[in-house]
Amino acid sequence: MKIEAAHATATSELPIPVNDSLQGRTILVTGAGDGIGKAAALTFARSGASVILLGRTQSKLEAVYDIIANEKLPEAIIHPLDLAIAGSDDYDLLGRSIQEQFPALDGLLHNASELGALGPIQYYAPEAWTKIMQINVNAAFMLTRALLPALEQSDDARILFTSSSVGRKGRAYWGAYAVSKFATEGLMQVLADELATTTRIRVNSINPGATRTEMRRAAYPAENPLSLPTAESLMPAYLHLLQPASQSRHGEAIDIRALLSELAD
Ligand code: NDP
Repeated sequence: MKIEAAHATATSELPIPVNDSLQGRTILVTGAGDGIGKAAALTFARSGASVILLGRTQSKLEAVYDIIANEKLPEAIIHPLDLAIAGSDDYDLLGRSIQEQFPALDGLLHNASELGALGPIQYYAPEAWTKIMQINVNAAFMLTRALLPALEQSDDARILFTSSSVGRKGRAYWGAYAVSKFATEGLMQVLADELATTTRIRVNSINPGATRTEMRRAAYPAENPLSLPTAESLMPAYLHLLQPASQSRHGEAIDIRALLSELAD
């Protein structure tokens, strides 16, 4: 499909996008079927990017694909994958297929995560722990590893990991989720240091903060969701971090509130 300037239609779920600042770029978003990942995928597409929609539930990915198609944005690709069970061969296959279909991969947003059980470490089921680490950490490692050759083909690529407040300061009962987010920060830092001078790939992590999504509802069932910012309201920050304007940021653990107010100034 020919790339056209992003514009909103009656089918839009988000406010008018932004501009064509990602025109000609290819960006893969994990967990693109719901919550923050869905908002990010739509925002990137509405800013001109071809998005690769990776997620667990095909019907959710198809719904995002349909919005993109209805708005006549650059054609998206759906890549259903359950990160709990995918192996390194699945990621390598995806990496090869991206290299065959696109001149380069310009962005990788590691967004998919699972919350898992909340409770004391002493009673945390080992299988549940392993599953959360597989989805939130090991999958991000294997996906990054497989996509680095395609990212290296870009003249200005971004890898953005998704963290959490509990991945920056430990909190009781947040179990494997919190530990997986500390590991995510570690992966970001090690990778950023490795790539600092050898490639043009910029690597950062972002903590989106409390956001009105299904994950937040599961963590805080008694909270009024209307009191929380929407995923859409975070998008200026996500867009900025995928654009050339953020080139100087590398190896940073970014707090979204600070970035949003910086961008608003
Ligand atoms: P949601 O639960 O709304 O969305 C998570 C997405 O990840 C879904 O699309 C889900 O797919 C996908 N996903 C989960 N497990 C798998 C899997 N095994 N394989 C493939 N995809 C999977 O969460 P949010 O949008 O709230 O969270 C997005 C990111 O932001 C996460 O990394 C989260 O940790 C982080 N975050 C969120 C906060 C919040 O308040 N919402 C606060 C701090 C951090 P499916 O829909 O098919 O299940």
